[in-house]
Amino acid sequence: PMLRVALMGLGNYASRVAKAMQDCKFAKITGLISGTPEKLRDWGSTYDVPEKNRYNYSNFDQIKNNPDIDAVYIITPNALHHSQTIRVAKAGKHVICEKPMAVSVEEGKEMVDACKKANVHLLIGYRMHFEPKTLEIHRMRANDELGAINFFQGQCGFKIGNPNQWRLNKDLAGGGSLMDIGIYAVNGARYMVGEEPIWVTAQEIKTSREKFKEGVDETILFQLGFPSGAVASCLSTYNMNFLDRFFLSGDRGFAELQPATGYGPIQGRTSKGPLTQAHTEHQTLQMDAMAQIILKDHKPTIAVDGEEGLKDLYILEAIYNACKTGARQEILLPQPHK
Ligand code: NAD
Repeated sequence: PMLRVALMGLGNYASRVAKAMQDCKFAKITGLISGTPEKLRDWGSTYDVPEKNRYNYSNFDQIKNNPDIDAVYIITPNALHHSQTIRVAKAGKHVICEKPMAVSVEEGKEMVDACKKANVHLLIGYRMHFEPKTLEIHRMRANDELGAINFFQGQCGFKIGNPNQWRLNKDLAGGGSLMDIGIYAVNGARYMVGEEPIWVTAQEIKTSREKFKEGVDETILFQLGFPSGAVASCLSTYNMNFLDRFFLSGDRGFAELQPATGYGPIQGRTSKGPLTQAHTEHQTLQMDAMAQIILKDHKPTIAVDGEEGLKDLYILEAIYNACKTGARQEILLPQPHK
């Protein structure tokens, strides 16, 4: 059986997901949700989605009566994820929601609770969790091939263009670079080190208060400490190019990826030599894997559920607090690393 997915929010990233899903073996597009009638018409004809499976933001609750749709993939601006996830859950459909899952811990918790209550899956669009070179490093670390881990470095960012886009609007983005791209360093630190951080320190740098308004971070340096004593040093930015690197150092080996989280091909090497795993579109791998999670109760190597997304939100909040106060923030995540 195939997971039958409705895409919500037909923007840039949804276009990439839709194209990549054409190669999926276990997932297909059967529904569309958009506020723009022309997009529904064009996408409907391109992806062969009949009119009865096309919805807008006012009427998508009706999806509950549509037996052609198992799950909704929410690909809208960050601040909308919370209410949209809750509405989809109430309609009894599984939710796949883009990162960041929400713009606060409180919202994230409500989403996890709503999906539990409705007995539907909540999965977060962490595509790197299915990327073969990433998984190989994860395997080597978990298999103790790198020895005790001491250090992770994650640098994520790009120079952002158009000042009028939603990514630079606090109300829609919930923050700035950290919410959007720095989250890859936060999330990557956790699955590369294989532990949950217990403290964070952070420093914010802003070169333009015009472009990066109050509440929209431009560049943040942050450090994480882990129970074993391992530390991470990370950078999140909307104002520097070519920052897409992970580096992991252990007593007996290292691993590095550059690019580490772009659409690929990902490139990297370890102390044992180059990583040679073949590239497949990340969204194809992700959607096939998520179909197996939802339909066959498959357990992914690196979690992608709502609780996983929520952990990142706790850390993002701690980083923002550390920037504001200048003080080290202790973090106690609700669950151990899994
Ligand atoms: P986008 O601006 O290209 O698309 C957003 C879509 O949402 C647009 O079609 C827009 O019309 C629609 N929308 C609905 N309600 C809206 C409203 N009130 N205001 C503004 N737009 C509204 O953005 P995107 O780059 O596709 O990002 C969408 C989401 O996907 C974000 O949460 C982002 O973090 C995530 N994303 C994830 C990845 C990834 O690799 N996992 C990559 C890019 C984006």
